[in-house]
Amino acid sequence: MTEVMARVVETARANNATKVTAIHLVCGAVSGVVPDCLHFCFDVCAADTIAACATLAIETAPVRWQCRACGRLLDGDERTGYDACPHCHAHAIELAGGREFFLKSIEVE
Ligand SMILES: [Zn+2]
Repeated sequence: MTEVMARVVETARANNATKVTAIHLVCGAVSGVVPDCLHFCFDVCAADTIAACATLAIETAPVRWQCRACGRLLDGDERTGYDACPHCHAHAIELAGGREFFLKSIEVE
């Protein structure tokens, strides 16, 4: 979160902004990041910065799997996952999404 805040402040300054009004984050469903903790960390990290009054919007990225054999993307759940690809039946499924955590955009004034 400290890194994210640094990016936010840097971006705002680059745009000659006086205030950051909103911060949009993308957080994967299995990234291990807990939204409640993010809000708390944000309050701590944003205090005394130009983003102190910004609204924190967290978007959850769904878990996705991809078959390495046929390349198809599959929607899925971390708990169930897939033993084999439902399309080509290869046992080559890997996690393709859901672990990301990044700054999507910010709104400034
Ligand atoms: Zn496949």
